[in-house]
Amino acid sequence: MDRPRITIFDTTLRDGEQSPGCSMNVQEKLHLAQQLDRLGVDVIEAGFPIASDGDFEAVQRISATVRRPIIAGLARACKGDVDRAWQALQGAARPRIHVFLATSDIHLQYKLRITREQCLEQAREAVRHAKSLCADVEFSPEDATRTDVPFLCQVVEAVIAAGATTVNIPDTVGYTMPEEYGQIIRALREKVAGIEKVTISTHCHNDLGLAVANSLAGVQNGARQVECTINGIGERAGNASLEEVVMAMRVRRDRYPYETGVASEQLYASSQALAEITRVPVQPNKAITGRNAFAHEAGIHQDGMLKNALTYEIMTPQSVGVPDSRLVLGKHSGRHALALRCEQLGHQFERRELDEIYRRFVVLADRIKKVQDSHLLELIQDVVRGGVSTGEAATGPWKKFPPATASLPLPRAATATAGANSSESRGAQVAASDGQAEARPGGSPPTNWFGGAPFAEHHGEQEDYLWGV
Ligand SMILES: [Zn+2]
Repeated sequence: MDRPRITIFDTTLRDGEQSPGCSMNVQEKLHLAQQLDRLGVDVIEAGFPIASDGDFEAVQRISATVRRPIIAGLARACKGDVDRAWQALQGAARPRIHVFLATSDIHLQYKLRITREQCLEQAREAVRHAKSLCADVEFSPEDATRTDVPFLCQVVEAVIAAGATTVNIPDTVGYTMPEEYGQIIRALREKVAGIEKVTISTHCHNDLGLAVANSLAGVQNGARQVECTINGIGERAGNASLEEVVMAMRVRRDRYPYETGVASEQLYASSQALAEITRVPVQPNKAITGRNAFAHEAGIHQDGMLKNALTYEIMTPQSVGVPDSRLVLGKHSGRHALALRCEQLGHQFERRELDEIYRRFVVLADRIKKVQDSHLLELIQDVVRGGVSTGEAATGPWKKFPPATASLPLPRAATATAGANSSESRGAQVAASDGQAEARPGGSPPTNWFGGAPFAEHHGEQEDYLWGV
């Protein structure tokens, strides 16, 4: 059966980055964009080029590097913004200029201080200019859900005539209700000339916890693009969560018979990569990607799960890429297992980097027996941030690790808990091995996390499986 395809427009790097504490540097944005590419999103909104030089550079670098998805750059409805966005998108294989202008009376009156007529003209002009540069133009009437519907229809009709190919309907302030939002989308489809030529898009904020429900209501009424973010990050209460929108349509195909290009097994890795970059943890009970999303603690649930997982499980952890926590990483784990776990945590490495991570991993595993995801993430960060180094593992970055017997803080990105039952999966405690690493009196750190064994000596005995495949 032919199911309509929903375009997944990820705005983690633009709207998401606007959330408090979630700003990212260019390198981090590039890393995340590569993960979004693996995830299979259709559009990556890479930034707002006129907002800062960093944003401009991020859009430029992502355009040059990530070639499959459409790369969008945001612009206010004025020539300078549109030109700057276009300049940043020059190297993109599939560029999109995304123009926005507020249309609600409250925004026109108090923010922009322009009349409806001026608004209409400005939107038309900006889209016309964008279209003269780029074939793919999206327009967003900001605060659309609080805009008088007949005026909204007028604006949408004008921008379609001026060349817009996607019309996005933002619930900028997170005010709308599912039924109401669906009605707005339906009204546009019924009243706007030329609407059948363009893609209608949703962009919902979560101030009332309804961003995903509103997005789905939009889809049911004819929207064919959903704007969303990993972990639902974004201004204030955030945007519609990408993983929730995608899995709702996948698990409930009977009610939402639509397809997306998202590889759902990459959802967990994407969530982890973002949490790690921003250092903003995922709330434990977050749907799909929270560490408790697949944990069953109540006895009656565990009993049911053991008899048949379907009793309490509507989707498998594997389907969203939650790693099998029964697979414990220890010193006998090979490079392949390590590479796989790194991938599940959102990191793919070239051989040289993986060699370095593996080298450090083995030394760590020898000390603490079971390497938790949180440890692995620390280790990856050191290698990624410090660059690939050889033989200096005993100094520098390791200083921040506590003595081996100390409790580590709860991991930022906790280990997945699918079927897990013990504190091990929470990764909080690190066992000392054979009394080699008692806590140092007075809390002074050991020479390194591995109990002071000089790296070079260690390397000799481990060499065989360090470099094996
Ligand atoms: Zn937004």
